[in-house]
Amino acid sequence: MNISLILQTPQISIVAPLYNESESFPHLVERLNQLMDSLPQAVEVVLIDDGSRDNTDLMMRQLALADQRYHCVFLSRNHGHQLALTAGLAAARGTEAIMVIDGDLQDPPELLPDLYAKLQEGYDVVYAVRRKRKENVVKKTGYFLFYRLLKSISYVEIPLDSGDFAMMSRRVVDVLNQMPEESRFLRGMRSWVGFKQVGFEYERSERVAGESKYSFKQLFRLAYNGIFNFSEFPIQFMTRTGMVAVLVALIYFVVVVVKKLFFAEVIEGFTALLFVVILFSGVQLMALGIIGEYVLRIFFQSKGRPLFIVKEEIVDGKAVSSRQGSKQ
Ligand code: UDP
Ligand code: MG
Repeated sequence: MNISLILQTPQISIVAPLYNESESFPHLVERLNQLMDSLPQAVEVVLIDDGSRDNTDLMMRQLALADQRYHCVFLSRNHGHQLALTAGLAAARGTEAIMVIDGDLQDPPELLPDLYAKLQEGYDVVYAVRRKRKENVVKKTGYFLFYRLLKSISYVEIPLDSGDFAMMSRRVVDVLNQMPEESRFLRGMRSWVGFKQVGFEYERSERVAGESKYSFKQLFRLAYNGIFNFSEFPIQFMTRTGMVAVLVALIYFVVVVVKKLFFAEVIEGFTALLFVVILFSGVQLMALGIIGEYVLRIFFQSKGRPLFIVKEEIVDGKAVSSRQGSKQ
């Protein structure tokens, strides 16, 4: 271990949220220690205890008191993976890069040098793309479909098959820290921030120990956050369905009139009823869609995201590179 590096401000932070991970904890620490010992940079590990009910927090406390490279944050209760990560990103002090991994070692921390090398090539986000998933079929299929659906309806380019495992530059994390939205879908927010982003393929391992801490309910909530926070599709779908219904009603009306005039074969009461039902359900759907559009605007405004993020500025013949995202 390189003692002289310990007290330096870290260049790189590794952020990992932990929820009831006492079984994988020793493995995690062993792998991280090995990794840090092999790196020339000053590295800190930011561990977030997301309100664990086992003794993960005790183990973290002991470790953080004994080894200064570990920077531990304890949340008051279980806030969920995305918020735990958010807490970690806010606490990370790495001046150059911040890497996000899962605490169960499904994302190999040993990829750090590769991701860092990419970052040094000038990228601001290097996100890891899963080549293969070693998980059960239901989960795999669910993820596969979800990412494709999201990609087709989202208004930001969210890469396929990449989770939160990524390395980001300091300025990207600064922007993320400025985004106060409450329902968080970090992998989407990361894409939204922009700058140069690139994928890095890797094979996702199995959990080293214990079981997945993500319940199906949490997974659904995550998927919902992805779909509703990053697309206008659900509301547009409503308006469009309404329009189609109105159109169908009108065509139906024309057909009925033509039939009546030229072929005289209409069952009267029933036809009129059907026409009115289709027409007015269409009108109602459209009206809901229109209200939805206003709600959507309020929703996006209320997220309080920065309106734009400046990458660089040249003023008075001098380049000023922005380290901070610009607010409004
Ligand atoms: N996690 C967390 N809070 C939660 C659920 C999960 O901090 O409420 C952590 C968990 O300890 C792990 C990471 O988030 O480090 C990913 O969770 P998990 O491995 O259970 O998800 P999966 O890989 O099965 O999608
Ligand atoms: Mg996992």
